[in-house]
Amino acid sequence: MQVLKFGGSSIAHSNSIQKICNLLEKKPIERQYLIVVSALGNITDQLIKCGKLASKRKNTYKNILKKIEIIHINIIRDLFTIKNQNNLISWIKKNINNLESLCDGIFQVKKLSKQSLDEIMSFGELSSSFLISEKLREHGLDTICKDSRDLIITDSQFGCAQVNFIDSNYHIIKFFSKKKPKYVVLPGFIGSTKEKKTTTLGRGGSDYTASILAAATSANLLEIWTDVSGIMTANPKIVKNAIPIKEISYEEAMELSHFGAKVIYPPTIQPAMKKKIPIKIKNTFYPNDPGTLIYIDKNINISKPVTGISGIKNISLLILEGNICLPEYSKRLFEALLRDKINVIFIKQSFSKNSIITVVIYEMDVIKAKKLINYEFYKEINKKKIKPLKIENDLCIIAVVGDNMKNIHCTSGKIFSSLGRNNINVRAIVQGSTEKNILAVIQKRDFEKALKTLHVTFFESKPKQINLFICGLGKVGSTLLKQINKQKNIYYKN
Ligand code: ASP
Repeated sequence: MQVLKFGGSSIAHSNSIQKICNLLEKKPIERQYLIVVSALGNITDQLIKCGKLASKRKNTYKNILKKIEIIHINIIRDLFTIKNQNNLISWIKKNINNLESLCDGIFQVKKLSKQSLDEIMSFGELSSSFLISEKLREHGLDTICKDSRDLIITDSQFGCAQVNFIDSNYHIIKFFSKKKPKYVVLPGFIGSTKEKKTTTLGRGGSDYTASILAAATSANLLEIWTDVSGIMTANPKIVKNAIPIKEISYEEAMELSHFGAKVIYPPTIQPAMKKKIPIKIKNTFYPNDPGTLIYIDKNINISKPVTGISGIKNISLLILEGNICLPEYSKRLFEALLRDKINVIFIKQSFSKNSIITVVIYEMDVIKAKKLINYEFYKEINKKKIKPLKIENDLCIIAVVGDNMKNIHCTSGKIFSSLGRNNINVRAIVQGSTEKNILAVIQKRDFEKALKTLHVTFFESKPKQINLFICGLGKVGSTLLKQINKQKNIYYKN
């Protein structure tokens, strides 16, 4: 069994869908293939816009619906034979009508619940999976389409539902235990509660769907087809010399994606990692590029401490300082933040004259966090046992990631001296206990400069030039010259 996931940009145009048919056709015949798809192009964004406009009583949601309909109909006209077009166009029109009724209801009540938004968003993946399965069939491939909502069972946290792995694995294994056509196409991103209400797994969640299916079916490979040639050493939009990483461990991929690398949805790694299923990131537009292999036994380049660099913009520091007992107060602080599900990126505690707890969170959560913390500690603040919460905004995090950092000394020294040389002030530092990452909090305005300078330091260092002057060409001198001559390929390569 092999699972392949195609992202929105890979299926945005009829010619790219045609390429996918050709690619699948060439795969070894003895295997079965699960094909997980995202919504076409940026349809999910359009669907969200539609729901939001309807809830604000703006009639323009109807224009967006029309646009979504036209995009799908154009794809059908480009892709299918005339004989098959009519049925498919009627199918899309019927679904657009259902969507319109849903939006009309939202327009009337002026409220867009997370549940309704999930229902609206599901249109994207349900339509793309149906059209792609029909296309594969027309192409002569033995294919069915299966609604993932029958297989992926979640809780009812609409918008970012948590997967119930016991129930989901049960349904997936049961479904695939009976003989199925060679190609099974499934919509990514969506699931359902036990009560059959549609949920979604978070933006970018189709990768996660593919990984859940790969793990449940013990697939031998998960391929994620996207519009870049793999995970890059840094964001190529900022760092022009960034290059694709050929091999990366699960942990490194997890760290890089958690700290801003956009190629893969962070939760995707876990299910595949548990079953040791290799994940291959490939570029639909350049299928011959090697891409990135995410696996357990990556070949470590012993001379390279760093595998990649990523970062998150728009973060804030919360600083709680006072004459406090650290364990008890950090517990209360966490519990307070948890009450409103505020995501903590990292925490640092220090003890000198006073105890200080520093928490790093996303800037968008600062107002909520401030309220929660001030409420939790109002007695201590009133008694002046704790100083009022201090907040620092306009910060970002740079994450330098590499399994091999622990084996090579001076990596952190290099990071901080390279930042220092470029006048980049470091506000806080954390090194993970596994020594796979070093995080530096810096000013937001220095984000791009920091990524570029660290990339130069770890990936673009020019070869060192050495001028060798030998006095006397006796036995030792001439042997040395011969040896240098023999090894010149090594010296020039490095
Ligand atoms: N279509 C959804 C999104 O745009 C899910 C996905 O593409 O993975 O977030």
